[in-house]
Amino acid sequence: MSRAQKKKFDELVAGIELGGTKVVCGLGNRRGELLARQELPTRDPDRTLADVRAALEGFFRERGKCVALGIASFGPVRLDAGAADYGCIGPTPKTLWRGCNLPAFFRSWLDVPIALDTDVNGAALGEARWGAAMGCESVVYITVGTGIGGGIIVHGRPVRGLLHPEVGHMRLPRAKGDNFPGNCPHHGDCVEGLAAGSAIVERWGEQLDALAPGHQAYEYEAHYLSHLVVNLILTLVPERIVLGGGVMSNPALFPRIRDRVVESLNGFISIDMVESRIDELIVPPGLGADSGVLGAIAMAETTT
Ligand code: ZN
Repeated sequence: MSRAQKKKFDELVAGIELGGTKVVCGLGNRRGELLARQELPTRDPDRTLADVRAALEGFFRERGKCVALGIASFGPVRLDAGAADYGCIGPTPKTLWRGCNLPAFFRSWLDVPIALDTDVNGAALGEARWGAAMGCESVVYITVGTGIGGGIIVHGRPVRGLLHPEVGHMRLPRAKGDNFPGNCPHHGDCVEGLAAGSAIVERWGEQLDALAPGHQAYEYEAHYLSHLVVNLILTLVPERIVLGGGVMSNPALFPRIRDRVVESLNGFISIDMVESRIDELIVPPGLGADSGVLGAIAMAETTT
């Protein structure tokens, strides 16, 4: 590697993962090394963004200034660069954040290129660049936490249509005997309404981790999440599907979901990755809790 290339790889890039309950601020480089990291609670926009600014300025004082900034935000967020409300947060239940213009805030005090995408696209990019999907051209990242969301990467870029995809609201066949109406405020029994963390608590009165692995809750989770994965395989046949988020940190789910996916496809997608290497196709995040913040860094480092 030439000295110029080495210098480029050492350049500092900042990343922010703005989630519904916490913000992760990071400073890293083009090798995917996270050199500084700070978590903050998500409060109202004014106080939260002031905290984020203070965290970044602390990093810059200690390590040096960044050459670019990436923001991976909860949504909905307007990503169409030509739209008048580019970078604004849309109709979220977090009402104080509606209309908050994220890039405008950072542009007011930080003179570097700014990249913006959804939190799940950020995590998908992070995993594709440095994590469990490294080197893959097509990747789906699904988070199963309080809600369910997904980011899709094709040819190394996040898929966007008129808006970002919302695979967490897909409708799926009901599990036998399941009469729970679902708790999605828009659809009731979409996959988020039936299988997200908040649905588990509403349905069973407990988080999944508090229920024994033989509990019916695991069967329902495996049923709904495997159908979600099957639909994504049938639509995209991606090289890797990364399942993250708090609910997926339960180790009992992966083997059940993989088995159900193979069973449900029933030999129809006749490739080695499905038939004998499903544990390499459906995987946990390689970057742990840093997928999002490293993803924000990954999206920013391509801007310079
Ligand atoms: Zn829904």
